[in-house]
Amino acid sequence: MDPQGRWVSILAPSRLQRRRACVHSGLESGIQPMNPMFLSTISQAGAGLSARQRTAARMPAACWDGWMTYRLIKRGLASSHWSAEHLRRTQERALRDLLVHAYSHVPLYRSLYDDAGFRPEHVRSLADLDAIPILTKDRLKSAAPHEMLSDGTDAGDCTSVHTSGSTGSPLRIVLGTGDRRWQRAAAWRILFEHGFRWTDRTMEIRMTFGETFFVQRIGIAPKDWMSILDPPESWAARVAETRPDVIVAGAGTLHALAEAVESLGTMLHPPRLIISDSETLSAATRSFVRRVLGSTPIDVYGLVEVSNFAWECERGQGFHVSADSHIVEVAAPPKTPGPLIVTALGMRTMPIIRYDTGDFAEQDVTACPCGRRMPRLSRILGRAVDSVRLPDGRRLFWPFFHEILARHRQLRQWRVIQETLRSLRLQIVAPTRHDGLIEHIEADLTKALPAGMTWTIERVDHIPVPAGAKTRMVTSQLGTDRQSTEEYPS
Ligand SMILES: [Zn+2]
Repeated sequence: MDPQGRWVSILAPSRLQRRRACVHSGLESGIQPMNPMFLSTISQAGAGLSARQRTAARMPAACWDGWMTYRLIKRGLASSHWSAEHLRRTQERALRDLLVHAYSHVPLYRSLYDDAGFRPEHVRSLADLDAIPILTKDRLKSAAPHEMLSDGTDAGDCTSVHTSGSTGSPLRIVLGTGDRRWQRAAAWRILFEHGFRWTDRTMEIRMTFGETFFVQRIGIAPKDWMSILDPPESWAARVAETRPDVIVAGAGTLHALAEAVESLGTMLHPPRLIISDSETLSAATRSFVRRVLGSTPIDVYGLVEVSNFAWECERGQGFHVSADSHIVEVAAPPKTPGPLIVTALGMRTMPIIRYDTGDFAEQDVTACPCGRRMPRLSRILGRAVDSVRLPDGRRLFWPFFHEILARHRQLRQWRVIQETLRSLRLQIVAPTRHDGLIEHIEADLTKALPAGMTWTIERVDHIPVPAGAKTRMVTSQLGTDRQSTEEYPS
């Protein structure tokens, strides 16, 4: 908690990351020959070398990168038990460094802050967070590429990732070496919080395969990738064959995997850890996956823009926030849904500061029985655009409808569209006609929705999903209104 009673969290970047933004090239930035950035530059410039020679040239940089990633993970795990005072001071120092960097080196922030009359020196403590202008997705999307990046960013050092674009056009996030390491450590640290071991074999099911790191090629934390486009039966067969210790996938994918395992009657060696991300993990999916796959899935929250930063406690007490790496704010009192705003303290190439995620969450200011001292979120409710607004101003988020509809196992897909303030259209895909299905859904909706709301149920053959995008199962044609955030009790 900050002195104003608002709940915040944080993390400090390493000294190397702080320097990262000033890297133009090895020689221009005064990097010494043994610096990994310099070694990396040499290895990338290795034209004319054989593949074996290029691999050998990259080894020192890869080893250094692995070592620095390990240190970040270790620091993150230790920070779970830092005192509130130590955490606060560390966050304040990291935030001030980040603001000075962004204002001095990134045109987008200079322009945003100048327009608002804000200067980095206005922030002396977390109590001054509100003075920092919010960065909206629209502002980030409308910026020219050069505006978002630190002065002198070396394109050869960078890679980019894209958001799904499910709420509009995709957003391109540019990551330098230090940013990639920081994002990787933030994601891995969460696995270690739940008992991950370096010897564990992971199976991850995704639309796009991630990078395979040097250490994974030599048997440290090995990972198998499977495509989300493959049939679920092939995932089930691979799980039975390779017996992964860890499975990582979106909640919908885990549900489909559990269905395939159940329908094939496959006997599985239960994975020790199942991580669910990308979509909200409903209670129904959680218990179904636990029953079929033999382990309780852990819900992890993050964004492509800033990596993962909130994760369920094994005690089932909501989400902890990786306060060592992110400042997370919920613009509402505890136990009340409010916009989720995040600052990524370790990103320098394309800084993300007070970014309005478009999602809603609830903060929890009570202590967790697990003993970790991280800030907490009691619930993460999803995106404002994925909710229905009621006439009295409250909102129904995706989990509300999921809990009603998930009990009808005949439903293959569904989507709720709010057409007017008082009317909803429910589209359903059910492969065969089931007696009483529509009537049962209508009865459930009557019980759950407030009086005065009307709805129509429409059978469709399929519900299209844009390639690479998340399914938007609840959409409103009324637009978003941030004034109305109280959730309707289910
Ligand atoms: Zn806990």
